[in-house]
Amino acid sequence: MDTRIGFGWDSHAFKPGVPLVIGGMRLEHHSGLAGHSDGDVLLHAITDALLGAVAAGDIGTFFPPNDPRWKDADSSIFLNLALEEIQHAGYGIVNIDTTLVLAAPKISPIAGDMRAKVADLLGVDLDQVSVKAKTPEGLGLDHVAQAHAVVLLERVRDPEDLKSMSAVVQSQRELEDIVEDLLTQVHGVPKRRTIVPAFDTEDIT
Ligand code: MG
Repeated sequence: MDTRIGFGWDSHAFKPGVPLVIGGMRLEHHSGLAGHSDGDVLLHAITDALLGAVAAGDIGTFFPPNDPRWKDADSSIFLNLALEEIQHAGYGIVNIDTTLVLAAPKISPIAGDMRAKVADLLGVDLDQVSVKAKTPEGLGLDHVAQAHAVVLLERVRDPEDLKSMSAVVQSQRELEDIVEDLLTQVHGVPKRRTIVPAFDTEDIT
């Protein structure tokens, strides 16, 4: 299978006097999100979406809320574990779409920064991440923040191939020989390539 999809959802209640952390960003607000960890509802939903996409359980499987090690934990730890799980399964992220549902604070002025922060935490480009926000109209849930996340994954090159390749390639010279062999097979004649230095060493004054 070349692609897989994952969905994650989370909610946390607001609690006065607690720092508000969403999408890995500390936001100015009179209340934060109550939780055993830092309560980052968005990173929790993304973590569950990633784990769900490779059927690796959920955030509670790896980080039980009764474990004192995860008290006030930075939720990027959870995200990193989920990234390792999808990499171990041989997949990479195509894109992630998320929706936050909360009455306050307003997310739209900082949605761009939050998107950049999440992309940075995931190690992907900005255009692979979407962060949207809505207010919970008619739900009577102004005391709660919710997050929904959908992720699409695609299979990356066979990690075993990469492993055997790295075992063979001991030097840049050997890598060049392998590439030349491949080019010879394709074109029928050896193609000499000119190695261009990364910068002009005479020009760094
Ligand atoms: Mg949570």
